Amino acid sequence: MKRRHFIQALGWGTGVAAGGWKSLQKLTSLKSGVGEPLVISTWRVPDSNEAAWQTMMNNGSALDAVVNGVAIDEADPNGSTVGIGGRPDREGQVTLDASVMDHNGNAGSVVYVQGFKHVAALARKVMEETPHVILAGAGAEQFASEQGFKEEDLLTEGSEKAWKKWLEEKNYQPVINIENHDTIGMLAMDSQGHLSGACSTSGLAYKMNGRVGDSPIIGAGLFVDNEVGAATATGLGESILKVAGSAIIVELMRHGYTPQEACEEVIKRISRQKNNKNFQACFIAVNNEGETGAFALQPG
Ligand code: ASP
Repeated sequence: MKRRHFIQALGWGTGVAAGGWKSLQKLTSLKSGVGEPLVISTWRVPDSNEAAWQTMMNNGSALDAVVNGVAIDEADPNGSTVGIGGRPDREGQVTLDASVMDHNGNAGSVVYVQGFKHVAALARKVMEETPHVILAGAGAEQFASEQGFKEEDLLTEGSEKAWKKWLEEKNYQPVINIENHDTIGMLAMDSQGHLSGACSTSGLAYKMNGRVGDSPIIGAGLFVDNEVGAATATGLGESILKVAGSAIIVELMRHGYTPQEACEEVIKRISRQKNNKNFQACFIAVNNEGETGAFALQPG
């Protein structure tokens, strides 16, 4: 189908004309080119981007880059939504989710992991060392130990204090954009034109015990197809899961959307969900020519 027809079939024009759409937020976009290394990520994480960049400058692959990049965030006790220092669930347990995908379409993910901060690297091990895509909970932790990952307490003093304060009122609702840091989703293209992505999170603060968000779900929080491009997400996982966000962005790019148009289209779909003023959702994307896009539901 020609791109113009495909857009019409999706009813693009109608949605753009609808009120409220103008308030949606265009973020920065850039273009590198095939075979020109590139790293993009959700939120301002210069140290993580730098680590990813340096990995590629030292002949690492795009997959090495994204796993090394998000590892910086996972090890930062001051970040409250990734790795150590991530806010716990309602019971005071820090449970982490992560996923990775490479340029061959391989995928790995871990959900509901306690006691191990480098969950993106663990997801990579699932991808490379097992016949599976997802390992959950105790099984993922057993696998982490077997693979030599270090076990540690991820509930920092600061997180415990914040949790105890939260317990006083137990308000449960997504809070828009007061975070200074959130789920890290990172996409990279290396000098061979190979795309990879990683996504790592502690999920929503004070979530229900057992809750899993979009970040470890292939196609929701992350999707890579080297023939087309890659996308990753941050924000309220429930809103992203319901539109299979990252996979749809890649599919739209396959049918001719630019990364920017594809991110906007999926955010537009999310904007139709109820309660849409009370949560944030954001995607970043890159196509296999190194053109990028990013779009968010709310300012910030
Ligand atoms: N997407 C993550 C989740 O829902 C949270 C976030 O990005 O803040 O688990």
